[in-house]
Amino acid sequence: MAADITITDLTKALANNEFIYFYQPKVSMVTGRVCGSEALIRWQRADGTLISPAHFIPLAESTGFISEITVHMLDKLYVDNTIMLDFDPTLTTSFNVSAKDFMTDALVDSIHVATDTHEVDPASIQVEITESAMLDNSDKTIANMKRLRQLGVAMAMDDFGTGFSSLDMLSKWPFSAVKLDQGVISRMQDDKKNKTIAVSSIRMAHELGMEVVAEGIESEATYMFLQNSGCTVAQGYWISRPMPLESFLSFLGKKRRWHSMPIGLFYMAQLDHIRWRKELIELIYFGRFGDNDGAKRSLWYEPEMDHTRCMLGRWYYGEGRKYAGNALYDALAEPHQELHQSGRVLLEMAERGESKDKLVSRIRKLSKLSAQVIVCLQELENAEMSKLRRNTPQFADLISKHSA
Ligand code: C2E
Ligand code: CA
Ligand code: CA
Repeated sequence: MAADITITDLTKALANNEFIYFYQPKVSMVTGRVCGSEALIRWQRADGTLISPAHFIPLAESTGFISEITVHMLDKLYVDNTIMLDFDPTLTTSFNVSAKDFMTDALVDSIHVATDTHEVDPASIQVEITESAMLDNSDKTIANMKRLRQLGVAMAMDDFGTGFSSLDMLSKWPFSAVKLDQGVISRMQDDKKNKTIAVSSIRMAHELGMEVVAEGIESEATYMFLQNSGCTVAQGYWISRPMPLESFLSFLGKKRRWHSMPIGLFYMAQLDHIRWRKELIELIYFGRFGDNDGAKRSLWYEPEMDHTRCMLGRWYYGEGRKYAGNALYDALAEPHQELHQSGRVLLEMAERGESKDKLVSRIRKLSKLSAQVIVCLQELENAEMSKLRRNTPQFADLISKHSA
C-alpha cells in the first residue's frame, strides 16, 4: 500500500482532515507520574483504517509536503493541548518537525500565531527535531531557531544516538532535551558496550543541563535500568502505546504511578560533586594562576563557587527539597556550604601564590568536607531505598534480579 501513496493522496487527505494525532504518554522518572505526551501523526482514512507515519512521512519529507502537514496540524495540536492543560496544567506536549521545517518561516510563524490564539504557555509545547544533521547553516534556519527559542518553546533533539543526530549538532543548536533513540535503548540489552553508551549519553546530557527522554521502553527492567542511570523522562510501550486524545485523557484520569526510585538522582548528585571538586583542584594547580598561556587557560572549567548554583546545589535547593525535614537531607547543607567557603579560600591562596604545601594541607580540609557530602548523599539514598515496600511485586522482582 505504501508504495501506492502519492502526493495527490496526501493533499486530499490533508484537505479532508484525515490526519489525526495519537498521544503517547511520557512519565517523569523523578515523580513517577505522567508529565506529558508526544503527538504522533496517523492517517485515518474515511473507511476508518489507520495508516502509520512510516508509510507516508518519508514521501512527505522528500517532497517538502511535510511542512504543509506540520503547519496544518498545529491548530489541532494546540486545541488538544489546551484540553490536556485543563486536566493538568503541568503537562507538556511534544510534536515532531523535520529540520527542513526551519528553512522557511511558516513553522515558527504558525507556532507564534497558535500560541497567541490559544493563549497557552509556550513552555507547554516542545518541538522534537528529527534528522537534526540536516539543519543547515543558512541565515533563515538560524533565525528561525532563535525565534523559536525566544518564544519559549523547548527543543529536543530526536533520535539521539543515530547517524542523524550527532554530538556536533548538540553544541551547535540550542536543544534543551535529547531523546535517546529506541535503537540505543534496545541495543543496551546486547552487551556492556551498548549499555555504557546509553549510560554515558545520559550523563553527558545531564552535564549539558539537558533533559534526557528515553523512548522505546518495552519492559520494567529497561525502565529501572534507565532510571538508575539518571534518565529523567520515560516513554515506551511498557508505559503505554500511542492512543487517541480521549483515551489519553482517561489514561490521565487513572492517575497511575510508576517507580520513582532515587538511585539515579543520587548517583548524578555524587558525580556532580566529584566533578566540581576536580574542576576546582585543576584550577588551583593548572588554571588561572599558573604560568600557562591564555590558550591553555581557556581549557579549564570555572567551577561554580556559589553553593546554591553549582549542579549539586541546584538539585539540593530545587528538586531535592522534597526530602527537606529528613535529618540526612538537612545534614548535607552545612558541609556543602563549608566546602564552597573552603574552595573560595583555596582560590584566594592560589591567587596569592601560596606554596604547594600550604595548598595541599588546605585541600585536605576540603577533601574531608567532600567526603561528608558524599556520605550524606549515600545515607540519604539508603534511607530512601529502605522505605520502599519490600513486598511490592516490582520491588521483589528487582531484588531477585540483583541478587541473581
Ligand atoms: P519517533 O519520533 O522516533 O517516534 C517514536 C516511534 O516509536 C513512534 O512510532 C512510536 O509509536 C514508536 N514507539 C513508541 N514506543 C515504542 C516502544 O516501546 N517500542 C517500539 N518498538 N516502538 C515504540 P510512529 O508513531 O509509527 O512514528 C514513527 C516516526 O514517524 C516517528 O518516530 C517520527 O519520526 C515520525 N512522525 C510521527 N508523527 C510525525 C509528525 O507529526 N511529523 C513528522 N515530521 N514526523 C512524524
Ligand atoms: Ca519523536
Ligand atoms: Ca526514534
